[in-house]
Amino acid sequence: MAVCAYCGNKGDLTKEHVIPSWLYEATKNQNLQLIQAQPKKFINNQQTKKDVCETCNNIALSKLDNYVKNLHDEYFRNIVKNNESIVFNYNFDFLARWLLKVSFNSARANKGNYHVFSNLKKYMINGTDRPSKLTIMIQLITPQVLSKRERDLIPDENLRKLGVITPNTTRISRLDAATTSVDPQKFDIARMVMVNSYQFFIFLPSDKVQSDLEWDDLLNQFGTSEITSGVQKLMTTENSIKVSASKVKLVHTMEHHIMRNLKVYSQLINDRSPKETK
Ligand SMILES: [Zn+2]
Repeated sequence: MAVCAYCGNKGDLTKEHVIPSWLYEATKNQNLQLIQAQPKKFINNQQTKKDVCETCNNIALSKLDNYVKNLHDEYFRNIVKNNESIVFNYNFDFLARWLLKVSFNSARANKGNYHVFSNLKKYMINGTDRPSKLTIMIQLITPQVLSKRERDLIPDENLRKLGVITPNTTRISRLDAATTSVDPQKFDIARMVMVNSYQFFIFLPSDKVQSDLEWDDLLNQFGTSEITSGVQKLMTTENSIKVSASKVKLVHTMEHHIMRNLKVYSQLINDRSPKETK
């Protein structure tokens, strides 16, 4: 009999959405889901993984989904404006467990490295055994008003007329070592989950990290890169933080990913643009 990916119990398995269905519904008109592990594969349907038992799915995981659905209604559905500051109220464990859960789901569904989540299953399901160095950071991404030169470069006519690139996207991804100065040797988990303006980073050290001091240094170093301007750490002992909008735009956060998969993206843009008449 098959085994649940979360609790390990044998039994009938149910379909768990990689991204909760309410989030798909809320963001239906947005762009495609981008899968970093398989950059050639664009997904525009609701991706699921049938490897979760009914108890985990309908009790533990759906509790996390309900919590974040409320966060979505209160925060995530609003695009953060330039120069805006947000007072973000959170429950660290509920948010962290949800971010880990969608990352774990995505890694399983897309043949990523899901083994690194093995020691976190209890925490995701019960909220017990939170790893002491688990770190969550938040960053607010704002709309990018395009200059005339930038506008002229955009093949999509509607986007060109609009003149603004809005961060209305859902992304679940590993962090790229090349752009974020994250040394893969030192991190068991270095990932991001983005829902519209709200970008979250999730970190867990590997056993190569020798001390608290070294871990703090690694995190500080992450915060100094160009695309992490304005990131703030969510304290486990707090439940509220004031965050100012970052100067970082959606395009910057995706630049490296796009450049590395330029062929796929230009193909995608060509496929979606109206064909020129001769
Ligand atoms: Zn289970």
